[in-house]
Amino acid sequence: MVSAVEDKRAALGAVGVERVSLRVGTRSGAVPEALLGAWPFAIVGTSLEEAVLDIDIIEAAVWCSTCQANREIDQFYQWRCPVCDTPTAQLVAGLEFEVISADMVMEQNTSPE
Ligand SMILES: [Zn+2]
Repeated sequence: MVSAVEDKRAALGAVGVERVSLRVGTRSGAVPEALLGAWPFAIVGTSLEEAVLDIDIIEAAVWCSTCQANREIDQFYQWRCPVCDTPTAQLVAGLEFEVISADMVMEQNTSPE
């Protein structure tokens, strides 16, 4: 993930990265606390060294055909609509693990080297 953002920074010609925003679903297998804890170690010595990590947590949700609506689920093995109790296996949110945005620091002096 860090190297993907670094590649993007290099492609844009930015000198650094201020902030990286991640979207993490509650069923993605990623643990936000662990990501935040690992972040300072992951960015040491990289162009992301100054970057702050923002994590947007996406609650897992299933599609309920009875309610005709997406319903948030909070238990890991819950495969039922929390409102009407209809069984469903259609997960519509919660598996996200993606970089939403990265705020790049562009060089003030734009003259080429
Ligand atoms: Zn329902």
